[in-house]
Amino acid sequence: MSSTILIIEDEKDLLNTLDYGLRREGYATRCAGTGKQGLDLGFQEPPPDLILLDLMLPDISGIEVCRQFRQTERTRQTPVIILTAKAEEIDRVVGFEVGADDYVVKPFSTRELLLRIRAILRRRSVEEPMPERIEFGRLKVDTAAHRVWVDNTETQLTALEFRLLTTFLSRKGRVQTRDTLLNDVWSIHADVTTRTVDTHVKRLREKLGAAEDYIETIRGVGYRFRDRPDEGSA
Ligand code: CA
Repeated sequence: MSSTILIIEDEKDLLNTLDYGLRREGYATRCAGTGKQGLDLGFQEPPPDLILLDLMLPDISGIEVCRQFRQTERTRQTPVIILTAKAEEIDRVVGFEVGADDYVVKPFSTRELLLRIRAILRRRSVEEPMPERIEFGRLKVDTAAHRVWVDNTETQLTALEFRLLTTFLSRKGRVQTRDTLLNDVWSIHADVTTRTVDTHVKRLREKLGAAEDYIETIRGVGYRFRDRPDEGSA
């Protein structure tokens, strides 16, 4: 069955080019020229398999559109690729803060975009589904509701921090290099340096408070999430 891709883009020419290029590759498409229309088409059953989202839309900002997709159960896990112009450097970062999976900078080649789409859809299909509730020592995670508790007190994580934590949890006891984390959590190579990983791990640790030492720093390599909560303290 072909994957359905929702395109939200107000530049008509680009929208048509993407629509044509994707359908030629065998994808089904839904096209929206405004944020409002994009949300309507995104919430339609069945939900799209992937969303291409322009940041600068005439009515609602792409960031707000992304946030609404993330807050709604049926589109919470749907991958979003942000389409952005170079001048929107800051928006780009914010895009990741609200939980976009990747971005491409305009002008981009349809070929490049197709590669990104394929990579994300492939990754989704091989990923093992996380259990809905994870308990690990002081930590409790509800992966469906995107909520985290430390010693039964809820801690607020950004979408990115949440993804970082669940990535760690799915690879307990295994060392993760900064590059691996960059690739798997941020899913991009350009413009984000390995220092970004350190910054976010630091913030995640702060938010985990008493559970912060579950994430160990492996000097010169990266990080490792403990295999067992009591490891090292025994
Ligand atoms: Ca636009």
